[in-house]
Amino acid sequence: AIEARDVVLSFGETPALRGASIAVAPGEIVAIMGPSGSGKSTLLHCLAGILVPDAGEIHFDGRRIDTLSEQERSILRRDQFGFVFQFGQLVPELTAAENVALPLLLGGVKRAAALKAARPWFERLGLAGLEHRRSGELSGGQAQRVALARGLVARPGALFADEPTGALDTLTGEQVMDLLVASAREQGTTVVLVTHEARVAAYADRQVIVRDGKVNALVHS
Ligand code: ATP
Ligand code: MG
Repeated sequence: AIEARDVVLSFGETPALRGASIAVAPGEIVAIMGPSGSGKSTLLHCLAGILVPDAGEIHFDGRRIDTLSEQERSILRRDQFGFVFQFGQLVPELTAAENVALPLLLGGVKRAAALKAARPWFERLGLAGLEHRRSGELSGGQAQRVALARGLVARPGALFADEPTGALDTLTGEQVMDLLVASAREQGTTVVLVTHEARVAAYADRQVIVRDGKVNALVHS
């Protein structure tokens, strides 16, 4: 479970979160929607232990994480969390297979074992044969599926996705969402997803709306 309680965060003079609360159950897929600048990404980054709130609390699986040190939070992110962002953000120097294996390599898994664990994802996500391509040699949809595999390969407790289909056309975005939801369900991964597209949010179990730095509306899909 992931929870934010009354989270407040400002960037200098700019308030981004003004008392945001959200609770995501284990294995649940929640979509965060809301206007541009409302605080969606900031809330996601707080839940994921990337940003530390000025006030309020963040809990992951019963453990308070906003009070951890920078180093403890980075270990938590590495061991428990997966991430997918709008533009994939693959490492251009690495092959697709090495990109997928990266979280395992960073977690101390040996190269051969990490690459072996990456392999089934290529089949599963319709990427077979692309293992040795560099990110510049992949289409947007292919790169985003590689990024999704990288986000899930270490079987994280939680996957955080910020506009994972934002750079894709509608059909490709729906394919990526189908794969994201199916893979997360298969391994019981909790997913927090930010999107401004209603048809992407519809893949979630539940949608919440962020407005003016608060989570102020609940819509059950
Ligand atoms: P979008 O849909 O455009 O991605 P968002 O809902 O994700 O918007 P946030 O990125 O969370 O919005 O931003 C919330 C507020 O905080 C905005 O006013 C934004 O300008 C401000 N903000 C976000 N990041 C920073 C930063 N690094 N430095 C200063 N202000 C920031
Ligand atoms: Mg954002």
